Amino acid sequence: MTSIVVLGSTNMDLVTYVPRAPALGETVTGRSFRTIPGGKGANQAVAAARAGAEVAMIGAVGADDFGARLRSTLEHCAVDTDLLRTAEGSSGTAHVVVDDEGGNAIVVVPGANGTVTSLTHGDEALIATADALLLQLELPLSVVVEGAVTARRLGVRTVLTPAPAQPLPPELLAATDLLVPNEHEAAALTGLTDPRAAAQALLRDVPEVVVTLGAAGSLYAVRGAEPVAVPAPRVRAVDTTGAGDTFVGALAVALGEGRPAPEALAWAQTAAALSVQREGASTSMPYRVEIEAAFL
Ligand code: ATP
Repeated sequence: MTSIVVLGSTNMDLVTYVPRAPALGETVTGRSFRTIPGGKGANQAVAAARAGAEVAMIGAVGADDFGARLRSTLEHCAVDTDLLRTAEGSSGTAHVVVDDEGGNAIVVVPGANGTVTSLTHGDEALIATADALLLQLELPLSVVVEGAVTARRLGVRTVLTPAPAQPLPPELLAATDLLVPNEHEAAALTGLTDPRAAAQALLRDVPEVVVTLGAAGSLYAVRGAEPVAVPAPRVRAVDTTGAGDTFVGALAVALGEGRPAPEALAWAQTAAALSVQREGASTSMPYRVEIEAAFL
């Protein structure tokens, strides 16, 4: 079984559906409200576990009701939370306002995620046992760099999702094996809006790049070869939230099982296409049997 460790965020998404977003100083009556466990790290952990890997999560939840729920949600998805800390104060939250047009405004408060500033000996021992370490940018950058550098030293494949988009320090890029930006992040990192050109530019810093392109699929680029476009299955999308995290989690599993890159991308896109046909982020992520049944 592929073994994956995620060093990343847990957030409770507080989602309010409104006819239109309020202006500053204004009050509007919302239509409904939901709390949804999320955070890019936790979402990738759930995606990888459902896709068939043994998964452990390093990060932190707060000492509050949200923290207890975030932890139990991961445990219900068979993610090992032994090294998920419980920090003083609140859990990470994302306050999301969604209007009738589907537009959204989001405030993210890192909370407990911000307390994960360095790795412990236990974290390092866990990373040493993994086939891959999945990283995103919702924890303090210092620990993301430390995680990538540690995994590299231990010979563990590092997969970085550069979201939310921000400049990446050279030492992080130098310790990244596979970079998986979406097209907006690829453009923000390179200043190039053409995904092929952006992927080629990113290959100067990392050996392998996958740019995700939403309904159009993804682009696989490796040094010394032309980028390969892998089209996504054509499906009727109802909610694309978490599609990118589903894709990365499943991709790490497929690569860990030794599938060649283009086939691994197609397998991960099958998983992501299943997820966009259902509501929610982690709730929409498919199980391995569903991915296998849909994979042609
Ligand atoms: P999100 O932020 O919504 O989680 P993202 O912006 O990180 O997603 P995208 O490029 O939108 O990432 O999507 C990731 C992958 O999900 C795509 O490469 C594709 O395989 C799949 N996907 C996304 N939207 C669709 C869709 N409408 N139909 C089929 N597959 C989709």
